[in-house]
Amino acid sequence: STEGPKATAGGGKSKLPAGLSGLPIVAIVGRPNVGKSTLFNRLARRRIAIVHDEPGVTRDRHYADTSAYGRPYTLIDTGGFDPEDEDPMKAGIAHHVKLAIDEADVIIFLTDATTSLTSADRAAIRLLRVAKKPVFFAANKADSAKVDAEAFELYREGVETVYPVSSLHGRGIGDLEAAVVDAFPPEEETEAPEDDGITRVAIVGRPNAGKSSLVNRVLGEERMLVSDEPGTTRDAIDALVERGDKRYVLIDTAGIRRKGKVAKAESTVEAVSVLHAIRSIERAQVAVLLCDSSEGVAEQDAKILGLAEERSRAIIIALNKSDLVSSKKDMDAIETRAREKLSFAPYAPAVRISAMKGRGLNELFATIDRVKEGFTKRVSTGELNRFFAQVLETRPPPTSGGKAPRLYYITQAETSPPTFVCITNAPDAVHFSYRRFVINQLRKHFGFEGVPIRVFYKAKR
Ligand code: GDP
Ligand code: GDP
Repeated sequence: STEGPKATAGGGKSKLPAGLSGLPIVAIVGRPNVGKSTLFNRLARRRIAIVHDEPGVTRDRHYADTSAYGRPYTLIDTGGFDPEDEDPMKAGIAHHVKLAIDEADVIIFLTDATTSLTSADRAAIRLLRVAKKPVFFAANKADSAKVDAEAFELYREGVETVYPVSSLHGRGIGDLEAAVVDAFPPEEETEAPEDDGITRVAIVGRPNAGKSSLVNRVLGEERMLVSDEPGTTRDAIDALVERGDKRYVLIDTAGIRRKGKVAKAESTVEAVSVLHAIRSIERAQVAVLLCDSSEGVAEQDAKILGLAEERSRAIIIALNKSDLVSSKKDMDAIETRAREKLSFAPYAPAVRISAMKGRGLNELFATIDRVKEGFTKRVSTGELNRFFAQVLETRPPPTSGGKAPRLYYITQAETSPPTFVCITNAPDAVHFSYRRFVINQLRKHFGFEGVPIRVFYKAKR
């Protein structure tokens, strides 16, 4: 009989310790010898791998703080459940799996693609498939594409997506990491970086929109910075650019230019592109959504622009590959359709460019300058209230719920993004449509083009 997983030194009882620093926790679960510690070392990017050749070697659990795609997390190797324990109702497997489900945010279940699934594997899979946590099923030792076919035995167990990986060689690890990181709980809202006079620009968009081409154009060189080796460090590399008398940081140019060598599933490529976009946008003041004009704007473009909008960054729509569109009339139609798809951000300016031919880049950078100026602009309270008095005179707030709200005055509390506080006798009585009207007036009057504006209504004390 089994006593379930061994307690770690200092860990006490049967509970996994919480994340070392409040990070998302990823647990690796599987029977002994499938390669859990090899995967652990690969994900933890440890150079010294401690692997055992004999099956069933008892070890303590291992913990490591690591990161992928810029998101830190705590990795746990749960040390393997008892392969002899085939009855999930008996303590062993159930206990082990339950522990992982309870304590982890994301679970990686590892099997050995070179051997058949055992009944212990099947028992664990049954338990994990009904878990209310994200579980990724990875078939290890898929050292070559030839072995992938074996990995698909997992599909017969009702598993929806199988990640064939080779922990030893790094094959497939990048895809697995992307999926795992994508399943993390959302990060806290991040503030835009402080303005130090240098404009921080994230160029985001779907694969093949032309991001690398644009970055190469701007940097004036056709050199790839780094090549992608799955599982190696993916630290973002920013590029400082000077244009005229202005300086810009193009965020994560390495991530943009890095191209996968292995053909990946389209869904994975898109998932990775969204992750890159999030990371880049959070470090930027201005997000440029690059679209492929010849293909039109897709759902994915809206998703990426939405990320920037949610995080209150300044945004620009760049319609790339304009050289592939034969007439201005066609280009106008493309822009109209793009606007419809991106209607949640009607304030974003659109610029037509060709990264390949180098067209429209001056206009793009002039637009970046304008939106950055608005993003970091501070309007004096005097100026603001002279304008506000006019607005109130032209269109006073409508009565709502039997109350006519009175708006006393407005001040700008913050920049990046511009954030205003309006003092009123009845915050709740200021109707949504009137709030939108005020924002639009502010944007029009003070030139907050491409800039998200926030107005908070507060009661007078
Ligand atoms: P654990 O007991 O699940 O932690 O398994 P280990 O990480 O100790 O690995 C068990 C054995 O499988 C070791 O001999 C590893 O070298 C080997 N192994 C692990 N990953 C791979 C892999 O991707 N490919 C191959 N061919 N062997 C692997
Ligand atoms: P990324 O995946 O967003 O980095 O896109 P790439 O920069 O790799 O570009 C994808 C493809 O589109 C490449 O074949 C580029 O040569 C092509 N491309 C990029 N920009 C333009 C453009 O302005 N016009 C045309 N015709 N092709 C472009």
